[in-house]
Amino acid sequence: MAKKGKLFVISGSSGVGKGTLLKELLSVHADLKLSISCTTRLPRPGEKDGTNYFFVSKEEFENSVKKGEFLEWAEFNGNFYGTKENYVKKTLAEGKNLILEIETKGALQIKEKIPDAVLIFILPPSLEELEHRLRGRNTEDETAIRNRLNEAFREIECSKFYDYKVTNDDLKKALTELTEIIDKNI
Ligand code: ADP
Ligand code: 5GP
Repeated sequence: MAKKGKLFVISGSSGVGKGTLLKELLSVHADLKLSISCTTRLPRPGEKDGTNYFFVSKEEFENSVKKGEFLEWAEFNGNFYGTKENYVKKTLAEGKNLILEIETKGALQIKEKIPDAVLIFILPPSLEELEHRLRGRNTEDETAIRNRLNEAFREIECSKFYDYKVTNDDLKKALTELTEIIDKNI
């Protein structure tokens, strides 16, 4: 029987650099898969259904919740996000290592259900730099930026429940740290 895959959960405030780090990580780590979540958020320019997210209506999302299809789900900034249980269980059973890039409420649900999941929190060098990156990305309006920064305080507080914390100051250094954590746990 194939060895079960390892589940990694990566969280961090919006704009901290999770997407940037994961893109680099996945390009060097062929044995890692990134899970695709369902969301009720509208696609940003350039985002594709089935690649970045499965973009679903609120009704579809609520149906999946009722049917118990999500391993975890949460509301974030007025939208719903969730990970399908079937997909995670199947991927791990096939011996593949999987990464979930999700917010903290969902991550803590994962820790309860799959205690050997490895939780990694990405920290910004400072809240000022976080705001600078979020604004520099130019994907959110002012209200969404303010909401995401407010969420950042709450999320950083939750980082105490995580197995590892990585500060994304210098991108290369953060990537090295992240790779070491993954290698150690695979
Ligand atoms: P997240 O996925 O966490 O919301 P992104 O990966 O979209 O964040 O990064 C937000 C912005 O910050 C992007 O414009 C990205 O290029 C930039 N960024 C990411 N990491 C760093 C870093 N270490 N130093 C400076 N800018 C960074
Ligand atoms: P964004 O709208 O910027 O793509 O994502 C907003 C937040 O939702 C991010 O913190 C991201 O990690 C989180 N997220 C993405 N997918 C999921 C998911 O399936 N479940 C949970 N709980 N959070 C998710």
